[in-house]
Amino acid sequence: MLNGLPLIDLHRHLDGSVRLSTIIDIAKQHKIKLPAWTESSLRPYVQIMEKQPGVMAFIEKFKYMIAIMVDEESCYRIAYEAVEDLKKESIDYAELRFSPWFMADANKIDAGVIVKAVVAGTKDASKALNIPVGLIGIISRTYGPELAWKELEALETCKEDIIALDLAGDEYNFPGEWYVPHFKCARSNGWQVTVHAGEASGPESIWQAIDELGASRIGHGVSAFQDPKLIEYMRDHQIGVESNLTSNVQTSTVADYALHPLKRFLEENIQATINTDDPGISAITLLDEYKFAVNQVGLSHQQVEQAQRNAIQQAFLSESKKIQLNDTKT
Ligand SMILES: [Zn+2]
Repeated sequence: MLNGLPLIDLHRHLDGSVRLSTIIDIAKQHKIKLPAWTESSLRPYVQIMEKQPGVMAFIEKFKYMIAIMVDEESCYRIAYEAVEDLKKESIDYAELRFSPWFMADANKIDAGVIVKAVVAGTKDASKALNIPVGLIGIISRTYGPELAWKELEALETCKEDIIALDLAGDEYNFPGEWYVPHFKCARSNGWQVTVHAGEASGPESIWQAIDELGASRIGHGVSAFQDPKLIEYMRDHQIGVESNLTSNVQTSTVADYALHPLKRFLEENIQATINTDDPGISAITLLDEYKFAVNQVGLSHQQVEQAQRNAIQQAFLSESKKIQLNDTKT
């Protein structure tokens, strides 16, 4: 809770939220090699200590988080703990996203096993801790459109437990055009759509996500201001923007917090929100991001509340659940 309004994270990667202590613990249990065995000495290998040259260099940091995803039990634990961490951060509602193929890749686990474990861990923790959580499945565009079908298939084994589909990974080299049929299937499953777009590519990638993939929300959307018509369209059609301040600075998508477009989105009445992206990699909490939004990006108190209200509006929840979320705020 913040400012008497619910604290919501709509863009948070489960596979970028693994605790350092859990990496060490599971690595010890399964005899996985790590470069360091204490939290402080492992930190530089897992978390961002300095700016990275781009999104793909940032993704390299996931190496040890992915290495310890060895079986159903470890994935269940990671999902459960991610929800515990939401509770610790006083978050009232979150949408956690994950790419089963990305999680399965290092140890060649069945992606369906990962989906099952993540769904079970999230559900159990959500119930035990009394915090509502939505799960967003990700297609990792970096594996190409063929493997994307397998990733989609794995997600569909828990069709009822997934609320939306996202496209993440190397936006520049793997354009959204290649994934149109996958998203058509996702929509026919009754899933909503959010897409990482306008992070490593220009506004045409955002247009494509909206027009061809059916996105009602855009992850990052940093390049949107290069096209005034797109800004107008996003305002008129209430397309949500999931902003991730620290992540964008760390990937060099924006040069500095002060240059982040979040404030401009809010000034243009675009439904932008404040989120964490990969808190375990970026070494941040959602409240840290709210502080950066005020102190570095220069949001007014009113704009912070506007971003919080946008998050309620843009949550992939039914209208009645949104009202419920708003009512349980005190
Ligand atoms: Zn992301």
